[in-house]
Amino acid sequence: MAENTNQPGTDLPGDSTPGRSASAQAARPQVVVIGGGFGGIEAVKKFKGEEVDVTLIDRSNHHLFQPLLYQVATAGLVPSDIARPLREIFRRQENVEVVLSEVRQIDVQARRVITEDLVVPYDFLVLACGARHSYFGNPEWEQFAPGLKNIVDAVSIRTRMLRAFEIAEKAVDEAERNAAMTFVIVGGGPTGVEMAGAISEIARHTMTRDFRRIHTAKAKVIVIEGAPRILAGFAPGLSESAKRQLESIGVEVHEGIHVTNVTAEGVEIKGGQFIPARTVVWAAGNAAAPLGGTLGVPIDKAGRVIVNEDLTIPGRPEIQVIGDMACFTHQTGKPLPGVSPAAMQMGRHATRNVLETLAGGRPMNFHYVDKGSLATIGRNKAVADLNFVRFGGFLAWIAWAGIHIFYLVGFRNRFVVMADWIWNYFSFYKGSRLITGLQDGGNALHHPQPGSKPLSATPITLMPTSVATTDEKR
Ligand SMILES: Cc1cc2nc3c(=O)[nH]c(=O)nc-3n(C[C@H](O)[C@H](O)[C@H](O)COP(=O)(O)OP(=O)(O)OC[C@H]3O[C@@H](n4cnc5c(N)ncnc54)[C@H](O)[C@@H]3O)c2cc1C
Repeated sequence: MAENTNQPGTDLPGDSTPGRSASAQAARPQVVVIGGGFGGIEAVKKFKGEEVDVTLIDRSNHHLFQPLLYQVATAGLVPSDIARPLREIFRRQENVEVVLSEVRQIDVQARRVITEDLVVPYDFLVLACGARHSYFGNPEWEQFAPGLKNIVDAVSIRTRMLRAFEIAEKAVDEAERNAAMTFVIVGGGPTGVEMAGAISEIARHTMTRDFRRIHTAKAKVIVIEGAPRILAGFAPGLSESAKRQLESIGVEVHEGIHVTNVTAEGVEIKGGQFIPARTVVWAAGNAAAPLGGTLGVPIDKAGRVIVNEDLTIPGRPEIQVIGDMACFTHQTGKPLPGVSPAAMQMGRHATRNVLETLAGGRPMNFHYVDKGSLATIGRNKAVADLNFVRFGGFLAWIAWAGIHIFYLVGFRNRFVVMADWIWNYFSFYKGSRLITGLQDGGNALHHPQPGSKPLSATPITLMPTSVATTDEKR
């Protein structure tokens, strides 16, 4: 039962949820799950039919399939293809109440979750709030190099990318045009590699006939990775294969290079070299959601809560932390990777622990089953490490596509994404090339980023180009 802090003593309207009588609520254990991502929804689903009441709290109203977020950022898919409302997911699970609210703090002594507008008591708590980007102590870089974690990020990156081509089309100065046509991805993990491949594809195939003054295929896409190789979590042979595959589609890959500054004009790398670039995407670092810091237990340097072998936290068997928020080192000596299978397995395990405890037992130790890793680079290009076999190229790409369709939540989403991909494959089409979020309908193009200088001091006079005039095109 939740209290509205604005009206002390008033119950949350959801307390009268059909199927939950007041007496049943009072008698049944209250489980609160914070976060409706991969870990959270698996935990909640597994409570189906159990004699507990579950409150799922999330600050957004949807579950997001983050692995395909880069396709929204690069105009391949629209947000609703890869997200589904949490209320819809759980509408048939009567012991679940969904609450849209941002959690601010956990009061572990009083066993209460404090959100922006509610206080929610719990008997058992599962924290699954995921991670955000980390700029290694340089938060000011974020305004120039957005990261990719949610739909707002993806649409904002899409807008920056598409707007960069518009800026290039209007630029009178060659240096300005080159900077607008340069896309830097900081970080060569799976997200960085996917972004680079997708930007290269849209520039080299999708948009080649859309512009009159620029050749979009000449866009420069650069990946800068601080570690000695991209895809450092994969076997060295697969990193090498991914690098070759990226280079085959014109992406420049720089390994062992650290970015030392990011500004509105571009990126500075160690040694002082400056790369002028209008669009910089941050895919380099993660930090766990800050809520873990309110539990009063040790966290690691990435902000993850250091959990016990059973996913509970020290001294609090009623609290479990899962997914990207958890630092679980008991299996390999190193933290488990921040990937969706780990979060989903932890989610299901957390529920088993609650049910076991209610049955009079004790929480059980968690064991992660690693089924392998995949990363895509673009059309027909990917790398796969399925533990017993490693391969790259077309087969890896088919495996990647099949697995992503399978794990998408919702039949409609699976169907629409598959249909889109088949259509895009044969047509090179990317349908969601919309520039959104511009307050003046596009005239702000000359001030694309906070703090940046105007692109051109003098107005541009549009002249017929040697490429093709509008009339010739008709
Ligand atoms: C761009 C990208 C690509 C990826 N690609 C892959 C891939 O190909 N394969 C793979 O296995 N993994 C991939 N991952 C990683 C994978 O998505 C994560 O490991 C997984 O989402 C972690 O699950 P989680 O439940 O811990 O957190 P999330 O899925 O991130 O969910 C966290 C939830 O908590 C909510 N939340 C956060 N803070 C609060 C708060 N204070 N109050 C209320 N709600 C809150 C958020 O709104 C969100 O819904 C990718 C991640 C990203 C960002």
